[in-house]
Amino acid sequence: MEYAKNILETIGNTPLVKLNKLTAELPCLVLAKYETFNPGNSVKDRMALQMVVDAEDAGVLKPGGTIIEGTSGNTGMGLALAAVIKGYKMICVISDKQSKEKVDILKAMGSEVYVCPTDVSPEDPRSYYSTARRLAQEIPNSWYVNQYDNPSNTKAHYISTGPEIWEQTKGKVTHFVVGVGTGGTISGVGSFLKEQNSNVKVWGIDTYGSVFKKYHETGIFDENEIYPYITEGIGEDILPKNVNFDVIDGFTKVTDKDAAIYTQRLAKEEGMFLGNSAGAAVKGLLQLKEHFSKDDVVVVLFHDHGSRYVGKMFNDDWMRNRGFLEDKVTKALDLAKSHEDLPLVTVKTEELVMHAIERMKNNNISQIPVEDVNGFVGSVDEAILFRAIMEDGEITSRPIKEVMQKPFPIVDRNTSIDEVAKLINRDNQAVLVGLDDEKYQIITKYDIISALH
Ligand code: PMP
Repeated sequence: MEYAKNILETIGNTPLVKLNKLTAELPCLVLAKYETFNPGNSVKDRMALQMVVDAEDAGVLKPGGTIIEGTSGNTGMGLALAAVIKGYKMICVISDKQSKEKVDILKAMGSEVYVCPTDVSPEDPRSYYSTARRLAQEIPNSWYVNQYDNPSNTKAHYISTGPEIWEQTKGKVTHFVVGVGTGGTISGVGSFLKEQNSNVKVWGIDTYGSVFKKYHETGIFDENEIYPYITEGIGEDILPKNVNFDVIDGFTKVTDKDAAIYTQRLAKEEGMFLGNSAGAAVKGLLQLKEHFSKDDVVVVLFHDHGSRYVGKMFNDDWMRNRGFLEDKVTKALDLAKSHEDLPLVTVKTEELVMHAIERMKNNNISQIPVEDVNGFVGSVDEAILFRAIMEDGEITSRPIKEVMQKPFPIVDRNTSIDEVAKLINRDNQAVLVGLDDEKYQIITKYDIISALH
C-alpha cells in the first residue's frame, strides 16, 4: 500500500504546468510551478512546516506550546496544518485588507484570529507586526514565528521548491519569475537555481505601494513609495531579512487593476483558478517580454488558490466598484453605470439654498439639477454656491431659483462619450442622460474620468 502517514507528508512535489493562451505572445516556453496542489492550497505549507520543524529542533517550540504569527492567510494555513498534526495551539494575526475567506479558513483549521488595521505603520502598536510580537510576550510557552526574518522560510524553498524545479525542467530552466512578499520563495528558489547554473535569471514581481523595486535599483528605502494597495500577498513596507536582493536580477511592478484582471483571465483562459499574486505574476511576466528568447524555459510560481478570492477578484461587482472591469464604455448610458441604481438627486426651484447644500452634503455630490413642475429649469454646483454665499451670507434662506444657473444639457442614452465630454466645461459641470420611464441620470467629469482610467 502507498499512503502518506499524515497530511503533512503530502506537502511538496507539485506539478509544473505549461501556460498556453495567456503567454502566446512570448517566444519561450512558460511553465507554472503550481503550488495549490499542496494540502493547504498554497506554497506556504512548505515553509510553515520547515519553520515549525526547525523551531522544535532548536527547542524554542516546546510540547503544548502556542504558535503565533502575523500572516496574510497562507502561512497561517500552513502553520495551522502543522499545529493540528503536531498538537500545538495556533494564533494568527491578520491585517484587515485580507479576504474574509482567509480569516474563515484559518478559523476552520482551529486557529484563533486577530484582525488588525492595514493603514498604520509597522511600528504602530495596532499593526499586525506589533500585535503578533506583543501576544508572543504575553502568552506563556508561545513561539513567534516571524516569517519575514525566519531563515527556515528561505531554507524550505532552497531544499524543496528549488530542487523540484531544477529536476522537473531537467536543468533547462533559464528564468524564474515570482511575486515577492517575505522573500522566502524568491530567495530560496533563486539561490538554489543560481548555484546549479549561474546564468539563470531571477525576477521579482512587486506592487505599486511597495518598497522592493526602488530599493533593489537604488539602495534607497523610499517611504514615499509606501501607500495602501489592493494586491494580496506581495509587496512590503519593510525589508524582510528573507529578501536576498543579491540573487534577484530585477523587479517589475504590476498595478492592482492588471493583477486583478489577469487573475480572472488565468481562470477563464487557462482553467487555472488561482490567487491574486498569480495574476500579478503573469502580467509581470508579459511586462518582461523583451528579456526572453526562443529557447528559454521560464518558470513562474503560482502561490495560492482562487477560492480565497471569490468575494474579490472573482466578483464582478467588487471589480466594477474599483474600476477594474474592462466594460466597454462607449455611450452616455455606460458612464452612468456606477450609480444607475441610485435615484437622481434634485432640488425644487422654491426650496431654499440651505436645502440644496444639505442635500449635496448628504449625497456627497458637487452639483444638482433644479426642477419645477415642467421639468429641469436650472442647476447649481459648488462654485456657484460658493460665490453666492461669499457675496451674501443671507442667501442660504432664499429660494434656489435666485442663484441657479441654466439647466444641464440633456442627451440621449446612445450619445457618444466624446459628445458628452464636449458638453462638460467650466460653465457646465454635468450632463443629464434620459433613461426609460422618463427618468434621468447625471453624468459628471468624475464619471468620465473613472470610466476611462
Ligand atoms: N503570494 C501570496 C498569495 C502569498 O501569500 C505570499 C506570501 N506573502 C506571496 C505571494 C509571496 O511569497 P514570499 O513571502 O515567499 O515572498
